[in-house]
Amino acid sequence: MRLSRYFLPLLKENPSEAQIVSHRLMLRAGMIRQQAAGIYSWLPLGLRVLANIEAIVARELDKAGCIRLLLPTLQPAELWKESGRYDAFGKEMLRIKDRAERDLLYSPTCEEMIVDNFRAAIRSYKSLPLHLYQINWKFRDEVRPRFGVMRGREFYMKDGYSFHATLDDAKREYDKMYDVYHAIFKALGLTAIAVNANTGAIGGSMSHEFQVVAETGESALYYDATFDDIRSGKINMSSADMRKLYAAADELHIPEECPVPKERLRETRGIEVGQIFLLGSKYTDAMNIQVIGANGEAIVPEMGTYGIGVSRLVGAIIEASHDDNGIIWPESVAPFKVGLINLRVGDAKCDALCETLYDTLESKGVSVLYDDTEDRAGAKFASMDLIGLPWQLTVGPKGAERGVVELKNRKFGEKQELSVEATLAQLIK
Ligand code: ATP
Ligand code: MG
Repeated sequence: MRLSRYFLPLLKENPSEAQIVSHRLMLRAGMIRQQAAGIYSWLPLGLRVLANIEAIVARELDKAGCIRLLLPTLQPAELWKESGRYDAFGKEMLRIKDRAERDLLYSPTCEEMIVDNFRAAIRSYKSLPLHLYQINWKFRDEVRPRFGVMRGREFYMKDGYSFHATLDDAKREYDKMYDVYHAIFKALGLTAIAVNANTGAIGGSMSHEFQVVAETGESALYYDATFDDIRSGKINMSSADMRKLYAAADELHIPEECPVPKERLRETRGIEVGQIFLLGSKYTDAMNIQVIGANGEAIVPEMGTYGIGVSRLVGAIIEASHDDNGIIWPESVAPFKVGLINLRVGDAKCDALCETLYDTLESKGVSVLYDDTEDRAGAKFASMDLIGLPWQLTVGPKGAERGVVELKNRKFGEKQELSVEATLAQLIK
């Protein structure tokens, strides 16, 4: 992408409405624009990150045997009356009437809609287990939308739902998802701590929230100090071993009953990036769902439900990875892998070298944002640091003369002067 042709409205000043760093940086880096409280336009740079996160989430779920579909965002109220949640959801649910005065709502979550699809098609235990998921917009009319995309009213969520013949099967899927979630967050460059949690408005008998530690997080967490060593990379632990360590959400932490000695107990704040629930038959009971069991008897399917805050993750990743100059994207989600800076646009050698680098990298599948504008060098460097691409490649007149360029790693800051060949070898891997 050539910056001169792109739509990247960077802000010079810190926007006064942003209270936390991720919100500030997303606005300054031209990733989002607020349209109403908790409702955002995703500008091109932000959308690229959102799409990368979505792709990683989908890839890992597909690998785990989950099956993707797409449910409507506007749903008839009748379904929600069946489960009893039309009234229970209260003011968080956005209710709409169509031209025929029929009650619709903008989906805040989709248990009812998925059960409705299930009952239309599934008759026998032989079709189980079945795990369906979607990645789609949700709307919750939050009392206090804030912190940008962290607590929006409209937000992008992965929601998955599994159906099983027995509670044991549902439990097995729950355990598997526990591991899959850790793998997803790791692939996104994050270490998430899974804390025991309440089941809240969704319901069920067991739940974990996946939390990314951040001072600005809205949840209070209590956990074994070992998690800090895992987060810092000092020790490496399997998801199964992590599950044996104590970690609890605020409401489930009872100091008198906590098995961790005081000196090893950490109290911090976290951003909830996902939550899984062992639901049981709450919805299948309420909506009268039965299928034929192995002995010809009627059985009520057991369910699990599994959410990931895809749009919230964009903010959470920035909270976990930035410095004073801007964002530092993990390579897996970066909007472009390389930022190519031409220090002297109009200089024949600089232009030619930049074009070669740009074409070669793009043709090898390495995404490049090429700053071909006439801005001064300082502004170009500052913008690249702000938007946080993993690699900065600078071409200046002196280097171009000698056929060398400067490669900087955004995270570690070190700069290398390299030949064009060495640069390409380093970036095309
Ligand atoms: P919270 O406790 O933060 O309000 P929740 O427990 O109500 O979230 P879930 O129903 O578990 O949310 O939804 C699944 C995921 O969707 C959450 O783990 C979170 O990452 C994300 N999410 C929920 N509400 C919002 C929101 N208002 N804005 C952005 N993401 C959200
Ligand atoms: Mg939750």
